[in-house]
Amino acid sequence: MNETGTNKVGEPVISVVIPVYNEEACLRELIPRTLAACRKTEKSFEILFVDDGSSDTSATLIKEAAKNNAGEVVGVFLNRNYGQHNAIMAGFSKVRGEIVVTLDADLQNPPEEIPRLATLGAEYDVVGTVRAHRSDSFFRKFSSSLVNRAVQRATGVMMHDYGCMLRVYKRHIVEAMLMCQERSTFIPVLANSFARTTTEVEVEHAARTLGESKYSFGKLISLMFDLVTTMTTYPLRLLSIVGGIISATGFGFGILLLILRLIYGAEWAVGGVFTLFALVYFFIGAQFIAMGLLGEYIGRIYHDVRARPRYFIQEIVGSQPDNKGALRDTTSSH
Ligand code: UDP
Ligand code: MG
Repeated sequence: MNETGTNKVGEPVISVVIPVYNEEACLRELIPRTLAACRKTEKSFEILFVDDGSSDTSATLIKEAAKNNAGEVVGVFLNRNYGQHNAIMAGFSKVRGEIVVTLDADLQNPPEEIPRLATLGAEYDVVGTVRAHRSDSFFRKFSSSLVNRAVQRATGVMMHDYGCMLRVYKRHIVEAMLMCQERSTFIPVLANSFARTTTEVEVEHAARTLGESKYSFGKLISLMFDLVTTMTTYPLRLLSIVGGIISATGFGFGILLLILRLIYGAEWAVGGVFTLFALVYFFIGAQFIAMGLLGEYIGRIYHDVRARPRYFIQEIVGSQPDNKGALRDTTSSH
């Protein structure tokens, strides 16, 4: 970026990436609000709506917006539903701006924050956000506070909120993320592993008023496992540690039971049968947890080994004059 606030001729400064999955109710409001917010920045921008295989009229709405706001709105259409993070990755592969903003389509993150975040984005590699008045259920809040703490330990980057997708990344961070081949990605964590400078700001968070959450309980669990396996293989080690502790305890118990039996005789030991039952069930449970965890990793390895494309872009609507991959002016970057 240079002083005039433009990149190379025809390349916008700011790219906004918005994944859309059956959000027709929100799009009507989202599109004008995002456009207005971007215009406020007084920098050139593009808004990429990534349609993640919506089955409602979202795709039509995006196409219309791209037609009516040529050069400002771009529609990227995936051939089916690949999930929020893959949709964002698809958007990333088409961005041309130096500052890349991600945003949810459901208006939970107000687009009005874009100008402020984009200013910070010129300064930091990654700008994270903390939801000021988080309007989500208790279960969602509780599970994300656990996850946040775990991520902080694993990545060493102090951020308080990984769930909020209203974030800003420098282009080179985005490009680094695109080079990651794994299929299970959790973008905010992945970005932090490449960032040199990060900062965090508070943003407003509203409850979802239109449409419904695209995350079922099952999808949320899967997302949490994605997050854990993206950042660390520590659970695998934990497995052996916990396994070690459990078997050592079991061994100790066995010896104790043997000694007690020798002291109190065989009649007493009959009572011990039930203790053993309890122990056996405890071990079986522990083993199942361990196997489940192994399965999480193996499942992901399986996916990666197959190396299927993460997404397929079917169509792009809206003007994108320069081919991505054209040489960019790196000498004038920050
Ligand atoms: N989303 C998507 N593909 C999916 C699920 C969700 O592109 O398979 C988008 C969705 O349209 C929204 C964002 O991801 O823009 C966040 O989804 P949602 O608001 O349902 O998640 P929550 O806020 O409940 O975590
Ligand atoms: Mg939401």
